[in-house]
Amino acid sequence: LGLAGCGILREAMREAVDACGTGSGSSRLICGSLGAHHELERTIAELKGTQAALCFSSGYAAATGTLGALLQKGDVVILDKLCHASLIDGARLSGAALRIYPHNHLEKLESHLLWAAQRISGSGRTLVVTESVFSMDGDRAPLEGIVRLVEDHGAMLLVDEAHAFGILGPGGRGLAAELGIQHGIHLQMGTFSKAVGVSGGFVCADRALVRLLVNRARSFIYSTAPPPAVAATATAALRLIEGHEGERRRKQLWENIALLRQTLGETAAPAQSAILPWRVGGEDRALAAAASLREEGLLVPAIRYPTVARGSARLRIALSANHDRAQIETLATALRKIGGS
Ligand SMILES: *Cc1c(COP(=O)(O)O)cnc(C)c1O
Repeated sequence: LGLAGCGILREAMREAVDACGTGSGSSRLICGSLGAHHELERTIAELKGTQAALCFSSGYAAATGTLGALLQKGDVVILDKLCHASLIDGARLSGAALRIYPHNHLEKLESHLLWAAQRISGSGRTLVVTESVFSMDGDRAPLEGIVRLVEDHGAMLLVDEAHAFGILGPGGRGLAAELGIQHGIHLQMGTFSKAVGVSGGFVCADRALVRLLVNRARSFIYSTAPPPAVAATATAALRLIEGHEGERRRKQLWENIALLRQTLGETAAPAQSAILPWRVGGEDRALAAAASLREEGLLVPAIRYPTVARGSARLRIALSANHDRAQIETLATALRKIGGS
């Protein structure tokens, strides 16, 4: 949304630093829990329509802390194959049995759920983990189908909206809100570091689950609270995102996405997110392509193993509401010259 450099948030952060200084001084459970953190948590919970929320110093900390708090040996955690490293690390650290299903493959997810039901006993827990918009492919999870399966099998669901929050759904609330299925998701995770333009991670859930995280999430307990000025700026960003200015920027972003795709002739299906992977072949070709774009003044990172599978290196295009028509046309021309799809 072009928020990280925008005047409104620069001013909000300057004011917050003047009001509350640069550091929080301690972890949340000692004496680092400040008004700015509580206000941010109230704001994000209200936006997401949950009873409560908990903020972390990053999305990575939110993922590892939450999975570690919810799961232990004897539980089962089931992840989409393309889940972000933070979710995989959290799942591994938790000690729960780990099952991976092929990307967006509902039948295989169901067979893992059946396997889990056989395996867990008594108070054992099964948690399904997916992203709503996938970070390297920019495609969406079949969330409605996943919610249905999770309900049918009495499991829990965590959805990471890192790349959907701010740009999809009413007021930028994310894909779950766009589909109207938030009630079927036990934990809605996200980050303030992407569309929100600041820093920090969050988990929205009911009060009992948030209380569990406060008492068990190690990345929350044993890490200094984010600076209050950062939390206050994130709150300002959320207000902006849900309001008129956010709407204006979302509209501009989606117009930019449509323009790029149209110029590239990619109009077969509607765009699913602001991320467009551009596959150019092997890793060397991806690196060379990124370097040649850089020479033309275009910053398009090459993504390769281990961030994506071997052999699926690509350029990862992430458009912003701040890009203008001329920049997008320059990019499209350069991509056509490089080749790929
Ligand atoms: C970026 C990202 C994270 C990590 O968030 P940070 O705030 O950058 O630590 C977690 N999950 C997904 C899907 C992401 O894309």
